[in-house]
Amino acid sequence: MDIKKVTIIILTAIIVLALAVFFIFKSETEILEIEETVDQEIIQEEASLINKKNIGYSVEGREIEAYEFGGGDKKLLFVGGIHGGYEWNTVVLAYQMIDYFENNIDLVPTDVSISIIPSLNPDGVYDVIGVSGRFTALDVPKVVGEAGLGRFNSHGVDLNRNFDCKWSPESNWRGNVVSAGEGPFSEPEAATLRDYVYEKKPDAAVFWHSKANTVYASECENGILEQTLDIMNLYATAGQYNSVEFFDAYPITGDVEGWLASVGVPAITVELETHETVEFDRNLAGVKSLIDYYSNI
Ligand SMILES: [Zn+2]
Repeated sequence: MDIKKVTIIILTAIIVLALAVFFIFKSETEILEIEETVDQEIIQEEASLINKKNIGYSVEGREIEAYEFGGGDKKLLFVGGIHGGYEWNTVVLAYQMIDYFENNIDLVPTDVSISIIPSLNPDGVYDVIGVSGRFTALDVPKVVGEAGLGRFNSHGVDLNRNFDCKWSPESNWRGNVVSAGEGPFSEPEAATLRDYVYEKKPDAAVFWHSKANTVYASECENGILEQTLDIMNLYATAGQYNSVEFFDAYPITGDVEGWLASVGVPAITVELETHETVEFDRNLAGVKSLIDYYSNI
């Protein structure tokens, strides 16, 4: 074999090898690029499944926020803090629930969506905690002040007497006369919730209060909706709360749950056990029981 032939064979081998290395490297890069694109699409998809919105303002101009998770047709609404700083633990619970679903969006089935309004009476929270927006139990002063402080909005109205179900200008709270506003939805916080309900059309609604350790059904003029009894029992069992069909400790007018019943939306009141405990695990179990009830997946 002459030297020329050997050189050609060696050169050919080098070129083939170089081409092989080039194509292997190129295809791996393409695979990585495809994987990266898929990852980005998943991140974008998850981002679109989590929305934070400003849905209105309190009397003093504080934002009322809603956090929305998932894109399904079955819509669950959860609301904390209608009684402001007097029931600040319900606001902390709502924010913890928001954190949970932000970190576990895959637990919201594709046929369900969840809305959480953490603080419907932010002025009442400010009266007790001294902060606007998000806070934790660590921000709460040791001595909360007089009983009922922070329960009402800045017009001195009990927001859970300001809705359009058996509304009357004066109502009751534990034997005391409280203002229910100048008419149904006279207060911006109540009107904000009404408008959000009309926009979202939830299939069920849960309002967090304290402190009766009990889940209550709701009704206005036409009795309790059948689904309301189902979700009351499910939430109470899962969260280890008592369940009571009719709130009969004292007469109530203009409550939000009754108004929702009157427009066909099953609504329950969940009263935490104390004014200071957050009871996250019990309520997560309750929330999951409602997700299971409404999801067909
Ligand atoms: Zn309450």
